Amino acid sequence: MFVSMKELLNEAKNKYAIGQFNMNNFQWVQAILKAAEEEKSPVIIASSDRIVDYLGGFRLIASTVEKMIEEMNITVPVVMHLDHGLSVERCKEAIDAGYSSVMVDGSKYSIEQNIKMTSEVVAYANRKGVSVEAEVGSVGGTEDGVTGGVEYASPIECERLVKESKVDALAAALGSVHGPYQGEPKLGFDEMKEISELTDVPLVLHGGSGIPDYQIKKCIELGHAKINVNTECNVAWAETVRQILTNDKELFNPQSILIPAMDAITEVVKEKMQLFGSSNRVKQLIR
Ligand SMILES: [Zn+2]
Repeated sequence: MFVSMKELLNEAKNKYAIGQFNMNNFQWVQAILKAAEEEKSPVIIASSDRIVDYLGGFRLIASTVEKMIEEMNITVPVVMHLDHGLSVERCKEAIDAGYSSVMVDGSKYSIEQNIKMTSEVVAYANRKGVSVEAEVGSVGGTEDGVTGGVEYASPIECERLVKESKVDALAAALGSVHGPYQGEPKLGFDEMKEISELTDVPLVLHGGSGIPDYQIKKCIELGHAKINVNTECNVAWAETVRQILTNDKELFNPQSILIPAMDAITEVVKEKMQLFGSSNRVKQLIR
């Protein structure tokens, strides 16, 4: 059974953060679940809306991940989350398919439209015990082939959206980017503090790959209870595959290539859980 992220994030807020790790196929899920169980950490598995169809659709994803949890005897809490839900309809589809959490990304619309979309999803999700994340401002960079510039979230708009829509978690864009960073990220820590205090909900950091550890720690202190990681897992996977294939030009047995690649993902996830402070939290969560 998947769990909502609402209670998990409220428990974590200001102490540690729970990692969201994006799946790029089902071997990612296997690698991420293995890491979470070994670290005794709650975990958020996410499928980005833009690759849901490539992965086989909402129902296939939700039911397969659920079976994997059973088959692998996973005991830690697992959230099945829709990342960057493109519309109210897509969020509803994910919820109907069994996702326990959704992000409705109305950030490219006006704040009024964003609040309207978010409220609609919250109303639908609440009836089913599903948590909702919304976004204000614009996370820069490239995600699943879509590129955009950074636009800082306005604290006033963040406060309005949270109060009016009653969303469970907020991604306030403050200088982080999807994909690799050019130089050191410049995050708006003053705005972060202000937004965390004004909204009083757990904050979500998108583009968590490549942010230096000391900045990650500061983000957690300033109210980030969820940190999204995708690029670093993908880079570790790709580097491993590239190295194996380069080292042995005759090799074609998929297992010899893909098992080490999965292990590389597991390693990254475990490191992140330790850095975010979510390792060994499960005993405390089950009371
Ligand atoms: Zn994102």
